[in-house]
Amino acid sequence: MANSGQKVVLITGCSSGIGLRIAVTLAKDEKKRYHVIATMRDLKKKDKLVEAAGDAYGKTLMLLPLDVCSDESVKQCINNVKDRHIDILINNAGVGLLGPVESISIEEMKRVFETNFFGVVRMIKEVMPDMKKRRSGHILVMSSVMGLQGVVFNDVYTASKFAMEGFCESMAVQLMKFNIRLSMIEPGPVHTEFETKMMEDVAKMEYPGVDADTVRYFKDVYLPSSIDIFEAMGQMPDDIAKCIKKVIE
Ligand code: NDP
Repeated sequence: MANSGQKVVLITGCSSGIGLRIAVTLAKDEKKRYHVIATMRDLKKKDKLVEAAGDAYGKTLMLLPLDVCSDESVKQCINNVKDRHIDILINNAGVGLLGPVESISIEEMKRVFETNFFGVVRMIKEVMPDMKKRRSGHILVMSSVMGLQGVVFNDVYTASKFAMEGFCESMAVQLMKFNIRLSMIEPGPVHTEFETKMMEDVAKMEYPGVDADTVRYFKDVYLPSSIDIFEAMGQMPDDIAKCIKKVIE
């Protein structure tokens, strides 16, 4: 349970990557200012987080199951938080999807929107009433540079982040009146399993019905330059975690 004076922070998608590092960084805060509720959809994946948290596990860090695509799971998770009191919500969970729209089913596209867009909407709807009552709170949303600019063969992922940006920009105005902050985080490339999965997707990619120029551009220009950018400018999940710590301080 949180001590008085500690802020309760709930983070989605903590089984790997950026979410895991945010959870550990905040739980290990030198002044113990945060009581971290790290969530993941499959608690069988908890070992990496528990190991990284070390002594903080069970003290400043606890775990709860949460699938942001399920209304029931979201409600259950928030109901399990004492008094439903969350000071800071960090919407980090997200999935990527790379490939020409010709080769992606509508079902796959919906899965991306269910997670990246409706996942965030569900969480905000669930925590907002209590934050409004207390007239305080901070909601952070993990967007991407791809929430600002379209990128070839990332059409659906980009669209899901654009949608979230629009939703949050509009919500921010309403929430401000209740002293609730809404912050968007828009990282460039970050070295996580997201990147590994993207490279696996590229290897399997097919181009049915896509014109030869676009395929050539993707393979000869976009892909090599993306890899260069990842190598030259790719951040580590810890960099993003430190940035978030600054934003919420
Ligand atoms: P990872 O793939 O390492 O982590 C994604 C996390 O989201 C995992 O914990 C995953 O859980 C979780 N997740 C996926 N679907 C759900 C769901 N339905 N319910 C709950 N959790 C879910 O990637 P990153 O750490 O890189 O990505 C984190 C966020 O950062 C994403 O929103 C991504 O869009 C964004 N981002 C990433 C960038 C990058 O280059 N890596 C750049 C810009 C933004 P599980 O293990 O169960 O799949």
